[in-house]
Amino acid sequence: MVEEFAFDNTEERRKTRQNGGIGWIEVIVGSMFSGKSEELIRRLRRAQIARQKVQVFKPKIDDRYSIEQIASHSGMTHISKPVMTAAELMAQIEDDTQVVGIDEGQFFDMEIVEAVNKLARSGKRVIVAGLDQDYLGRPFEPMPQLLSVAEFITKTHAICVKCGNTANYSQRTSDSTARVEVGASDKYEARCRKCFVPHSDAPTVV
Ligand code: ADP
Ligand code: ZN
Repeated sequence: MVEEFAFDNTEERRKTRQNGGIGWIEVIVGSMFSGKSEELIRRLRRAQIARQKVQVFKPKIDDRYSIEQIASHSGMTHISKPVMTAAELMAQIEDDTQVVGIDEGQFFDMEIVEAVNKLARSGKRVIVAGLDQDYLGRPFEPMPQLLSVAEFITKTHAICVKCGNTANYSQRTSDSTARVEVGASDKYEARCRKCFVPHSDAPTVV
């Protein structure tokens, strides 16, 4: 199981901060199939068990599974609202919401960085999951920026389908050279550093 916080995983301290109205940002990053969505859903479920008000969002671009929910590759789901932009997300936030979950954070515009900072400043716990690298292994904005402003960071890993080692990369198996190419095991597989082969014909600028 992934540690909830890198250096502070006690429920008690978290609760104290929640009661004190102090918010914070948690970011979950890793390759495809590394368990980001599972980990996000796990944290959201625990918050709901603690009777905290939770709102969950995902970018409209990701139509992998049904639109009104986030879903893991292993079949875990959680209700969520699809939004186009960070501004649209902010417009839907309710005052008494205590926990804000965001999946597929890499598909948001850069305004998401200031948006989550603002939510945390207003006392909310914000949990963002997303890909930290694109299919060429390049940092996938805005995730690097979100990692910079987060209080707590979790890196998840998949299993390399070639050799069984720790996988840190999402290998694209289709021919597309678009940075955003939505798909699952039909278009991607998890690979370790040794087995990862970036597309040679890919553009260097997107
Ligand atoms: P992510 O959000 O990071 O893409 P998910 O949480 O949606 O990941 O899915 C994680 C699940 O994917 C795992 O629990 C496992 O059931 C499944 N899975 C499929 N391929 C792999 C792989 N190569 N390594 C690890 N898990 C995999
Ligand atoms: Zn490998």
